[in-house]
Amino acid sequence: MSESKVVEIICVGTEILLGNIVNTNAAYLAEKCAQLGLVNYYQISVGDNRERLTECIKTALSRSDIVILSGGLGPTEDDLTKETAAEVAGKSMYLHEESKRKIEEYFAKKGLEFTENNIKQALIPEGAIILDNPNGTAPGVIIPYENKHIVLLPGPPIELKPMFENKVIPFVRTLVPGVILSQTVKICSVGESVLETRIKDLIDNQTNPTIATYAKTGEVHVRVTAKAENEAEAHKLIKPMVNELKKRFGNNIYTTDENVSLEQSLVDLLKASELRITTVESCTGGMVASRIINVPGCSEVIKAGYVTYSDKAKRKLVGVKKSTIDKYGAVSAETAVEMAKVPEMGPRADIVVAVTGFAGPDDTPEEPRGLVYIACNVCGNVKVKECHFRGSRQKIRESATTEALVLARMCLLDYFNEKTFKE
Ligand code: ATP
Ligand code: MG
Repeated sequence: MSESKVVEIICVGTEILLGNIVNTNAAYLAEKCAQLGLVNYYQISVGDNRERLTECIKTALSRSDIVILSGGLGPTEDDLTKETAAEVAGKSMYLHEESKRKIEEYFAKKGLEFTENNIKQALIPEGAIILDNPNGTAPGVIIPYENKHIVLLPGPPIELKPMFENKVIPFVRTLVPGVILSQTVKICSVGESVLETRIKDLIDNQTNPTIATYAKTGEVHVRVTAKAENEAEAHKLIKPMVNELKKRFGNNIYTTDENVSLEQSLVDLLKASELRITTVESCTGGMVASRIINVPGCSEVIKAGYVTYSDKAKRKLVGVKKSTIDKYGAVSAETAVEMAKVPEMGPRADIVVAVTGFAGPDDTPEEPRGLVYIACNVCGNVKVKECHFRGSRQKIRESATTEALVLARMCLLDYFNEKTFKE
């Protein structure tokens, strides 16, 4: 196999330097480039300044094969990425009539006034490949330079992402002989450090395929990437590694499909079991229900979502006993269990997941921040889990939400396996 290509990412915009926008394009492009097997050593953020941008592009070209720039392709004065890149590459610009026509059409369709400065977006460096932009006005371009390439993409993520997916990825694949294929194994209920310990031998001995771990809130993804002559060969290399991970992590793996989320896997399980879920949430305030409702087709499996934030709501809406709250507190295993026994359960097989906890920011001995109880009731069998999360209020709520989905999934799997539940 040939040497890997080196890519450099330059995000252009004074807004980035001022902290006015979060540089999500850098994260997106970096992740996609890694999936393509490109090596990335440098990511640069630079303002809308011709001299400094020139310097960045020159430096990038001196040490990388592919230089990807995002932002500054628009019509305004401060949008100068294309002119600058063309100048560095020694290319003159010409008016590309078809791009001009498409920009005019875009304006007409949106009912917007076409101003003269928009023509600037149809100026293309000589010899460049034009990347259509169906989601905006500025087309992207790929400028060949010696044996390297400068890729210019629009700043708005809704324009940049589809352009990268549909145009840049196929182009990059033509530069790299052979194929690079990856598969993501998504693991829940195992912390990142524990996971790394359990696969240390695999990490230490990796060659082809390689494996990399990515910690997410409440889950860890392991990406297995293989390089091969063709797709079938790459699959052959990936498969034994994925099987080894399956052997080690079993039910903790909720999917081996990049596009399947935790909530999607839960919805699939609910559909398969013909059970409908009800959520009863205190500190997560509806986030568990919201994650499930994010999945298209969830209406078959979600029954109701209660937000019972006050003690009174816990009593009135879902029947938690006053004596339970008085004796054990609203954040307790006992209260979580009663929340999960919402009378709504009726005779039909059903599942309830309940969350109660202290999300902070206060942190006192009586109300320790991050203490969360999650209960799950599948057909009358209730399991409850005590969790201790860290971080901000938002982070704790996100962690609790993920853990609630994880617990619901695990309880459903147990239900499938007809195991006896233990309190
Ligand atoms: P436009 O035609 O909209 O001006 P552009 O290609 O000139 O597009 P910029 O002017 O640099 O791009 O940025 C436009 C908007 O795109 C920014 O206000 C911001 O919302 C978004 N954006 C730009 N760069 C980034 C980035 N690196 N990460 C996330 N969003 C970005
Ligand atoms: Mg702009």
